[in-house]
Amino acid sequence: MFEKIISRDVPADIIYEDDEIISFKDINPQAPIHVVINPKKEYCSFDDFSRSSGEKTILAMIRSIAIIADILKLKKGYRIISNIGDFGGQEIPHFHIHILGGKRLGRIVAP
Ligand code: 5GP
Repeated sequence: MFEKIISRDVPADIIYEDDEIISFKDINPQAPIHVVINPKKEYCSFDDFSRSSGEKTILAMIRSIAIIADILKLKKGYRIISNIGDFGGQEIPHFHIHILGGKRLGRIVAP
């Protein structure tokens, strides 16, 4: 699904894009602000990404978090999450980082 957003075959509300990454609003937001950041090259999860991606892409992903936080004016703070695999609750097998914010999120609780 995310490949189709990257290729523009499926529309999305894009927040930020560069050569390496794309970020867009989550279709089912879990906070007042909820976006996902994806490397354009496909990795199935953060685990795969951390093992096999190049330094340029890793740097782009990490740097993009603060860039996007600035775009979204998340001055009071925010949360980043990456779900990994079945037990991690990952639905889309294309590595992405969630940014959630826009309110005080409280503690992380497992359902
Ligand atoms: P995961 O569980 O894989 O970490 O998160 C997948 C996220 O992708 C979910 O929060 C879900 O709402 C979002 N999502 C699924 N399909 C689409 C889509 O077609 N467009 C957008 N913008 N988000 C999607």
